[in-house]
Amino acid sequence: MQKRTHMAGELSEGVVGSKVTLAGWVARRRDLGGLVFIDLRDRSGIVQVVFNPRVAPEAHDRAERLGGEDVVLVSGTVERRPPGTENPSIPTGTIDVVADCVEVLSKSKTPPFYIIEDLDADELLRLRYRYLDLRRPDMQRNLIFRHKFTMAVRRYLDSRGFIEVETPMFIKSTPEGARDYVVPSRLNPGKFYALPQSPQLFKQLLMVAGFDRYFQIARCFRDEDLRADRQPEFTQIDIEMSFVDRDDVLALTEDMMAASIEETLGVRVATPFPRLSYAEAMERYGSDKPDTRFGMELCDIAKAVEGSGFRVFREAVAGGGKVAAIVAPGCGGFSRREVAELEDMAKEFGAQGLVSIAVSRGGEGELEFRSAVRKFLSEEELQEIVRVTGAGDGDLILVSAGPGTVVQNVLGRLRLHLGSRLGLIPENTMAFAWVVDFPLLEFSEEEGRIVAVHHPFTAPLDEDLDLLETNPLAVRANMYDLVMNGVELGSGSIRAYRRDVQERIFRALGLGPEEAQEKFGFLLEAFEYGAPPHGGIALGFDRVVMLLAGRKTIRDVIAFPKTQRAICPMTGAPGPISREQLEELHIEVVNGERIDPASNAQES
Ligand code: ASP
Repeated sequence: MQKRTHMAGELSEGVVGSKVTLAGWVARRRDLGGLVFIDLRDRSGIVQVVFNPRVAPEAHDRAERLGGEDVVLVSGTVERRPPGTENPSIPTGTIDVVADCVEVLSKSKTPPFYIIEDLDADELLRLRYRYLDLRRPDMQRNLIFRHKFTMAVRRYLDSRGFIEVETPMFIKSTPEGARDYVVPSRLNPGKFYALPQSPQLFKQLLMVAGFDRYFQIARCFRDEDLRADRQPEFTQIDIEMSFVDRDDVLALTEDMMAASIEETLGVRVATPFPRLSYAEAMERYGSDKPDTRFGMELCDIAKAVEGSGFRVFREAVAGGGKVAAIVAPGCGGFSRREVAELEDMAKEFGAQGLVSIAVSRGGEGELEFRSAVRKFLSEEELQEIVRVTGAGDGDLILVSAGPGTVVQNVLGRLRLHLGSRLGLIPENTMAFAWVVDFPLLEFSEEEGRIVAVHHPFTAPLDEDLDLLETNPLAVRANMYDLVMNGVELGSGSIRAYRRDVQERIFRALGLGPEEAQEKFGFLLEAFEYGAPPHGGIALGFDRVVMLLAGRKTIRDVIAFPKTQRAICPMTGAPGPISREQLEELHIEVVNGERIDPASNAQES
């Protein structure tokens, strides 16, 4: 067999006249005027190959029988295309390869979908035949971009003295808020390993060991209900550093992102990234992952309405709640239906109601107001609302009143909805921001107890340390989230590296000394052998790559992802195992249903 000499997409007019041998897939075949044309595709792109019966009759005959996605080896001469037949839509559009022989290396059945850019096919079908889906040029680009970004990050971190260390996959569970995936131990009957939700404790132990700067492109596993765009296994850029404070971790992360983005996309990102406190993010954007690409910020109008004739406003302020507003620019003319839709949305987000005030300019130049509650609001009140919110002629003011967290959530979500509906969000911008000073602990309604906002290994701010016992929910954490365009890219913190502080946090979380010892004794013990102050961060790598590659789902930047039900439609995982395997693992399945791999195709 002849060997390939060139990649299809790399041929250019510079090699006109050369003999080349190419290998790849038949993307398309056309028979025209006695000639056969094929578009030959490989990872680098596409080139047109021409089979002329007068030049090479045998190759031409074979080419006539080629089908889509057959794999071929073609030899021929690169020629400039005759004038008028160039194809400006592909980089090799000014040349042809005039074939003198072709060998069929492998035949293909008709694929279940077209192997083309921007395919609009059922995703389940794409996942079932992922190897064909990944043959499509946009998916190849996604994974190649991912590779390039990985390399850029590795190069950057290496240049800054970081050591990549692999941490174990079979561990004792490290609770970080999700359920563990577990693996039974054959050698230890009745015992299980957990797959890591993150390498958190190991990277901290590497700091105790003196590695000073660690990173890992780490696979993590979380057994969550896969709402939104999550995967049961995902990748993090995991970082830990010794002898640092918060500013050092933020500066390093900013620099790493800027350098890797510039290397892969050629785009310069301004650093440092703006910082907002958690409280400020909530006040201004109604979200702890603010989309800072556009304005429409929340305005506190409590002062303007504390003495309002409208009971809902008055009572919200008196009850320690919030009254806040956003201004939808140019929406003063919204129809009743459009306003009702916004009200419904607000209710869906948890509000009791939503007050809307349309602002317009009257004949005399004075502002006029249209609202269902107009008669309860005084002229001064309305003027004050206009002054605080900056609303003007033609705008719609939306007001929410009630408990602070509800008001922020409702207006924050309406802001996002209207921002995108009104086209206020600029495309092709990367708006990074840090959110800092989160609370350390919060009360989880679901679990009925205090839980860590980040994880239990986060240090409190020094000045709040003594509140741990007296007012734990008021303690602020030395933690930070990185946000881009309203998406959380990652979190990290400075850690509690002293045994006494760590024990106090465990106590605040309701973890008794024995339980703490049982679960985290090894960490507490390590802290007694010279633990350096340390901190770090982890960025959701799939999400970063998705955003930078301009894709809408992380599944598009993961080679073999799972469905929302954590199933792989191609291999049929998870699958049953044999009775022998179960016995060896000392496991009995109660009420276990046999999963028919074929039925996975119907999963969604
Ligand atoms: N382990 C944390 C996480 O996965 C990140 C960190 O604190 O470094 O979110």
